[in-house]
Amino acid sequence: MEQNKQDTIAAIASPKGLGGVGVIRISGPDALDVLQSIYADKQHTVNNGLNGPVRPTKPKKFISHKLTHGFIINWFKGHIIDEVMVAYMQAPATYTGEDTVEVYTHGGVAVMQNVLDVILNSGARLAEPGEYTKRAFLNGKLDLAEAEAVADVINAETEKSMLSAGRNLRGDLSRELYVARETLLHIIMLFEASIDFPEDVEDDIVDIAKICLQLQSECIDRLTAIHKNYEYGCYLKQGLKLAVAGRPNVGKSSLMNTLLRQERVLVSDEAGTTRDVVTERWNIGGFPVELADTAGIHETSQNLEKLGIAKSFEVIDNCDCILFMFEAHKGLTEADKAILKRMPDAKVIGVANKTDLGNVTGNIELQNYFDEVVPVSIKNKHGLEELETTLINAVTQTSQNFDNMIIPNLRQTKLLAQILELLDKFKAEANTNLPAEYLCVHLENVLKLINTILGIKVDTDILDSIFSNFCIGK
Ligand code: GDP
Repeated sequence: MEQNKQDTIAAIASPKGLGGVGVIRISGPDALDVLQSIYADKQHTVNNGLNGPVRPTKPKKFISHKLTHGFIINWFKGHIIDEVMVAYMQAPATYTGEDTVEVYTHGGVAVMQNVLDVILNSGARLAEPGEYTKRAFLNGKLDLAEAEAVADVINAETEKSMLSAGRNLRGDLSRELYVARETLLHIIMLFEASIDFPEDVEDDIVDIAKICLQLQSECIDRLTAIHKNYEYGCYLKQGLKLAVAGRPNVGKSSLMNTLLRQERVLVSDEAGTTRDVVTERWNIGGFPVELADTAGIHETSQNLEKLGIAKSFEVIDNCDCILFMFEAHKGLTEADKAILKRMPDAKVIGVANKTDLGNVTGNIELQNYFDEVVPVSIKNKHGLEELETTLINAVTQTSQNFDNMIIPNLRQTKLLAQILELLDKFKAEANTNLPAEYLCVHLENVLKLINTILGIKVDTDILDSIFSNFCIGK
């Protein structure tokens, strides 16, 4: 792809706030000139004293892709801003495919802002969100599916979502699409040959039965598998929803605090302390989990509590798995059973708490009520490991095996759905007497949709909307 003639952009690439090191990136044809105009090496600053606004007379010879130690100077004010390491990377072997400079400063807010200011005063302009990745895409360094995966890698909350995004960044999704694309191009070529030069081609060049089989194995089967994975991707990105439910005072908040290992939810002897639903994000076996501590469910005349309990049922109705807590020393009471009757169809794990006070649950027909039961004493920290293992199994069974799974994002999934619909239509109409020109249009439209996922000949407004979701500096 032809290199885009662009201006030079700069931005702070590391997060806002304090850190050991801050990274500022410059990309574009003037990146090296910008660096030369704000940089001085140690020898120069020693010879001239640290305060004299004397610029070096000769430009520094930077070696591409090598770190250099030096100083960023505000020549106008005549002072050193920071002692830094800089990396000059000559195009095209860079992320954006353009000349690039990275400046590694101390990670202070004022330091990074001052370095960025002198860069912007030396001819660069502030980058827009996602502009580095957009340039990488426009310069052919990444296709659009890979570029979108960059944002997913950055936003990944757990190891599993990070690995899944990483697979797309390395081109796993794109490779599958290119296989489908090659097949389509070949079939379209056969159709066109038979339409344009009917007298020159053999009669059976368009063997519809063979074409349908090829489309099924090389396009439909493979793309259907990827399309289905979107649902699992939602688990990875948004997490599984778990709710802790049960009567007041059975130990729900204590369990939540123990699982999250922090004292967020108020624990008290007084029944009804948790009046609203408290939700926390957490990570279990590499999956993000949203854990909701619901208000103790019981009959009450208090309006505030009624509201809390109604909200609890709303959360419970929408969760993937319920941890139903009761007291082991009392067994499953009539009040517990009444609440259990109102539980939705989700997986329900029984948590028999307070075993330190006794455990009468062995005698009860628990399997009628629960998929599994784990006896615990939160007070004595007994049974908690077993509970975590049970939870991991519940979560991972729901979510299948994610290793090597190619997971598309929402935009790609919608396009895949259209592709599969058109391919189905083609197959349904292939055995009718419809003319080849008509059938071929379906395949050409599929090709266009695949191109849209990969970013081949894609409209600029689609690109703008994709890259505007990135952070500045990426
Ligand atoms: P919630 O209303 O269901 O959220 O219950 P809390 O977590 O507020 O706990 C109610 C009371 O039970 C508190 O006094 C806790 O200290 C106590 N509690 C929680 N877990 C245990 C346990 O394993 N053993 C005993 N003996 N008491 C517990």
